[in-house]
Amino acid sequence: MSEPVTESQQITIALSKGRILDETLPLLAQAGIEPVDDLQRTRKLVFATTDPRVRLLIIRATDVPTYVQHGGADLGVTGKDVLMEHGGEGLYEPLDLHIARCRLMTAGVAGAPVPSGRVRVATKFVRLAREYYASQGKQADIIKLYGAMELAPLLGLSDEIVDIVDTGNTLRANGLEARETICDISSRLIVNRASMKMKHQRIEPLVEELRQAVARGMGQPA
Ligand code: AMP
Repeated sequence: MSEPVTESQQITIALSKGRILDETLPLLAQAGIEPVDDLQRTRKLVFATTDPRVRLLIIRATDVPTYVQHGGADLGVTGKDVLMEHGGEGLYEPLDLHIARCRLMTAGVAGAPVPSGRVRVATKFVRLAREYYASQGKQADIIKLYGAMELAPLLGLSDEIVDIVDTGNTLRANGLEARETICDISSRLIVNRASMKMKHQRIEPLVEELRQAVARGMGQPA
């Protein structure tokens, strides 16, 4: 009979549904970690895996750094956009997983003139937008939205938006055009600082296995 798993050996990994989950599961599988349940078919939020020492937590993307920072999860996978907006306090970021790649961009109504003076910007990335416009020497009034940013310039709420762009289809479908790239984004493995110390015997080999899985998968389309 196998030994019971104690709390100190248990590792909790926070993920979010969508591209990050879909593209992280194959990497975890290469480290011998696979969910026991079908994640798409259940409303559960905590999942056992084929490794009795590892469980998965499925939460909102923007909550992943917060859970890991406060030790609700030992590890997490989150977009660099979400991580930068959070600030990264209390977190290590040991690994770029090179998945869920996209860009953080400014966008506005296609063909409309770029405002020369003060610019009104709608976004959920308030911190990043503020830093970006300041770095460009532009005065910006930031309007916080939680979704459907594309509507804001169309309805006169803002001159520009700051949002994630992958193919550009969402912008085009709403009569917007991408303008400036603020930064390239990919998903990162993050680790709670205390967990890294207390559970390093378990976490370090896992980070290394994921590093190798990423290296093997590099160059494949994300
Ligand atoms: P697209 O139409 O392909 O440019 O995708 C843009 C929309 O998809 C954005 O509004 C984002 O909310 C979402 N999206 C695409 N890729 C990602 C990603 N890697 N991380 C988070 N959101 C994304």
